[in-house]
Amino acid sequence: MAGGICGARVACMAYVITEPCVSTCDTACVKVCPCDCIHGPVKPEELEALSADERSARVQKLQLFIDPAVCISCGLCENECPVRAIYSENEVPEHWREYIALNAEFFAK
Ligand code: SF4
Ligand code: SF4
Repeated sequence: MAGGICGARVACMAYVITEPCVSTCDTACVKVCPCDCIHGPVKPEELEALSADERSARVQKLQLFIDPAVCISCGLCENECPVRAIYSENEVPEHWREYIALNAEFFAK
């Protein structure tokens, strides 16, 4: 992706979405991200159009991911998450470190 600060690959730590997002996916983080770098197996715009009950049924065992090549590490998403799923890469708890690769792998497809 070329051009603009949000399109540039930067050398800083990205933010990472971890386990608590699984089966939650309420898209609160998507709404504040200035770079549109949060996506998932179900499009966020589709999730936003659902009621809470419909969304809950739709995202069983699914989560959203942050594209590490686009994230500018602004941190705006971190405090929006109601289930504390988002961490700066260097602050991901030890038991969720695998999510760093899982976030990157989603965008490598
Ligand atoms: S840290 Fe900023 S750029 Fe990165 S995903 Fe969160 S809101 Fe988007
Ligand atoms: S705000 Fe948290 S639970 Fe909601 S989609 Fe983002 S990471 Fe998942």
